Amino acid sequence: MTMQNDTHADVGLIGLAVMGENLVLNMARNGHRVAVYNRSVEKVKRFVETRAKDKTIIGADSLADLCRLVQRPRRIVLMIRAGAAVDNVVEQLCEYLDAGDIIIDGGNSNYLDTNRRTAALQERDILFVGAGISGGEEGALNGPSIMPGGNVAAWPAITDLLQGIAAKTDDGAPCCAWLGNAGAGHFVKMVHNGIEYCDMQLIAEAYHLMSAGLNMSVSEMSAVFARWNSGPLNSFLIEITAAILAVADDDTGQPLVDVIMDKAGQKGTGRWTAITAIEQGVPAAQIAEAVFARCISSLKTERVAAAGILAGPAPKAADANANDVVTALADAVYASKICAYAQGFHMLSAASSEFGWHLDLGSVASIWRNGCIIRAAFLDHIRDAYSVNPELPNLLVAPHFADVLSSAQAGWRRVLTTAIERGIPAPSMSSALSYYDAYRSERLPANLLQAQRDYFGAHTYERIDRPAGEFHHTNWTGTGGTTASTSYNA
Ligand code: NAP
Repeated sequence: MTMQNDTHADVGLIGLAVMGENLVLNMARNGHRVAVYNRSVEKVKRFVETRAKDKTIIGADSLADLCRLVQRPRRIVLMIRAGAAVDNVVEQLCEYLDAGDIIIDGGNSNYLDTNRRTAALQERDILFVGAGISGGEEGALNGPSIMPGGNVAAWPAITDLLQGIAAKTDDGAPCCAWLGNAGAGHFVKMVHNGIEYCDMQLIAEAYHLMSAGLNMSVSEMSAVFARWNSGPLNSFLIEITAAILAVADDDTGQPLVDVIMDKAGQKGTGRWTAITAIEQGVPAAQIAEAVFARCISSLKTERVAAAGILAGPAPKAADANANDVVTALADAVYASKICAYAQGFHMLSAASSEFGWHLDLGSVASIWRNGCIIRAAFLDHIRDAYSVNPELPNLLVAPHFADVLSSAQAGWRRVLTTAIERGIPAPSMSSALSYYDAYRSERLPANLLQAQRDYFGAHTYERIDRPAGEFHHTNWTGTGGTTASTSYNA
């Protein structure tokens, strides 16, 4: 194996796929000597001889060799496929580690696995950190957003390493902060990805309404997204959408986006977010809608068949007010985006209480301001909202966002009316509006649900004119008994 035998490294990394290679180059650029290992060892050799050549990067041909090279207490970063692979590698690695050594799992691991691994490794005196990393290939190389949590005893020894390679905001703050015990970092990363699904879906819905609803050309839409990017919607995803819509296909000369199959893939973190929200009892339907939108997109063959069977509204003539709709669309996207973040931050707050993580929600917004896929100007407002009121029950009621929503809501409703009239699905935007309308409703129809539950199952109900916690049962039909079901939440 290619190696400088007489040397050592201050950090080790396992997993030389796209994220691992680029993180190693980032570490080396930031003054670290990095020992690297990959299960398929030929990738180590190739990397050391190509991208890592003449850099402070040393190849290892086994886990034992990697651990021999890295100074103690060792800091070993895993950038491998999430799931069983992490357990396997951790188990093998532990053979060569000493008490006080640190393992940092930088992959997209499930936070429940990180809870388990942190506790199990603590028993063996190994400090485990689950660090969600966002920013893709480019972020890994030039500075990602890093969301570490786990065994806090590791943090002093890895602060400089992780904050050094992380992205920096315009005011120079690193996009990396300690988030909390156990799986806190991976939970935050999971919610980041759920929000990312929503941000992408909202942009896709805006594009769909402009193209199929308003017959706008791809170049007109690119200009709209570019304009949005210089206003409150400024974000990485809006910026790349403007760029994507400006690219022509080499083969056909058509806009490239027009020849891409309309079936969305997914790797699972959005699904985890939606499942977790349901388990937590946190209303995050918009995040679930973004996942389901990808699911229905993948039913391409069925959709094509159904298009010939199911009726839609009669086609509309060109809209003389298309510009007004596009103006309103910016409001609809922005208001819906606020709702997506409100749902994600509600999940963070609920998990923080459940697991005792003491998450600083302003700090979470702060470390998402650069480096990650959802980086956006408006995260400054979220950080500010939580710094004014760390106990904020919901982002929607922060004064800044309440004002924005109040001025955006007319346009938001108009856009959805247009979408419905034209038969254009807008699941994320309409779910967001339902969330907003439900959250601001003093009275919801759950009184009727409670009556139904009591009618068929004697599940009891509370009354608005009696103390909370006092449960009543009515013999609705005159034939039921007076025995009530046990009162509990399921
Ligand atoms: P990946 O395709 O998710 O994983 C490939 C790497 O995992 C290879 O180094 C592979 O080794 C290793 N691996 C797989 N199974 C293994 C096993 N059983 N034992 C040991 N090693 C094993 O790579 P990636 O896209 O660079 O992502 C790495 C991690 O970062 C993942 O958890 C991913 O979810 C997360 N992540 C990815 C991105 C992204 O944009 N790609 C962004 C953020 C986070 P071999 O070469 O031997 O197969």
